[in-house]
Amino acid sequence: MKRVLISFSLSFLLVNVLPRDLSAQTSADPGLVAEIARIKAIDNHTHVTRVVGPGEEDHEYDALPFELIEAFPTMVRYRPDNLEFVGAWRALFGYKYSDMTEAHVRELAEARQRAMREHGDGYPAWVLDQLGIETMFANRIAMGRGLIAPRFRWVSYIDALVFPLNNEAARRMNFDYRAFYPAEERLLKRYLADLKLDALPATLKDYLTNVVTPTLERQKRGGAVAVKFEIAYLRALDLYEASESGAARVYERWVKGGEPPPADYKLFQDFLFRYASREAGRLGLVVHIHVFDGGGGSYVQSGSNPVLLDSAFNDPSLRKTNFVIVHGGYPHTRVTAGLLSKPNVWADFSAQDLLIYPRALAEVLRNWLEYYPEKILFGTDASPTFPEIGWEETGWLATQTARQALGLALTGMMNDGEITRDRAVELARMVLRENAVKLYGF
Ligand SMILES: [Zn+2]
Repeated sequence: MKRVLISFSLSFLLVNVLPRDLSAQTSADPGLVAEIARIKAIDNHTHVTRVVGPGEEDHEYDALPFELIEAFPTMVRYRPDNLEFVGAWRALFGYKYSDMTEAHVRELAEARQRAMREHGDGYPAWVLDQLGIETMFANRIAMGRGLIAPRFRWVSYIDALVFPLNNEAARRMNFDYRAFYPAEERLLKRYLADLKLDALPATLKDYLTNVVTPTLERQKRGGAVAVKFEIAYLRALDLYEASESGAARVYERWVKGGEPPPADYKLFQDFLFRYASREAGRLGLVVHIHVFDGGGGSYVQSGSNPVLLDSAFNDPSLRKTNFVIVHGGYPHTRVTAGLLSKPNVWADFSAQDLLIYPRALAEVLRNWLEYYPEKILFGTDASPTFPEIGWEETGWLATQTARQALGLALTGMMNDGEITRDRAVELARMVLRENAVKLYGF
């Protein structure tokens, strides 16, 4: 039934709304679609929530959840009235309706509670089975009930390590920073407490060896397969080369208090980003970097072009660190395609499959598939969003969209004589799972 609903709404859009572009593929090869539907996926990026008891809430699904900042306009597909989410309700919870009236949505809430009760701690894995996902990466502050390996793998956060000094200047310049910096400061305190420290060390050398490296090692021991920077929510991605002696001068002058001059603090952050990335590589942790044109009402778009990471990716001392451009650097996806030429760079299309429609995503994917198909990773960005739109629904919509877009892109390549049918199936398997198996060594 979900197929009927989605294909109806899509054909409506394709015929009536989107501009005619004869070069774009508008329908996918049915046999290929069936093959793609059978592939068990590895989801490179989500904010899945843990199982909670009565009255308990989970706020650890993101180090910088949007619930902290002022409400901002969301893209149309991400709004709670998007009827595509009804498809998720039908597929997951046996919802019988095609609308979102209050009475019907109340029934849905009961059906969801029933499924949670029935599956208990197995509920998250049961949802994965419904979505055709074998392994889901959980980008969270900490894992929790029901989020158990091998179905769920941890991606931890390390931004807090980059901003240990006084952050007042940043807070003054941006509404979102005003909420996000305190969240990072709280997380750094938690990391210090985990190491049984109650204050920052006086020297940079001690900060690196007694805080930064042990935090990464601790996360690795806790099961992390990757670490995540959402640094583009906190500053621009111009993370350039910086000397340790310069960073030490800044750290040691300001660690006891006072506002460091912004240029000095930037230099310290630049150094820390590369140090932490190098250490992650040494420990076999992949480094994820959020690069997307949002979100938030004060997100710094000009600082979020993936080309800003060029010098970090090229740093000879970082060639043993593997990076993933999370969300594929949208809308600069053609820049991302070029960056995939670097041996240590991959990209996922998480969030794109949630926010843009299959045909637009198919164009992104076709460009990437024609460049470096072994560097593309599937991801959803499944996240709790509204009371009745959880990670289950966003995960479902993104999964459907990703499979549809992949079908369109590969059908177009087959029709244009670029690839055979067998190669199309092989490419779909690579994107949905095999590239991830190779990158993470599963
Ligand atoms: Zn995310």
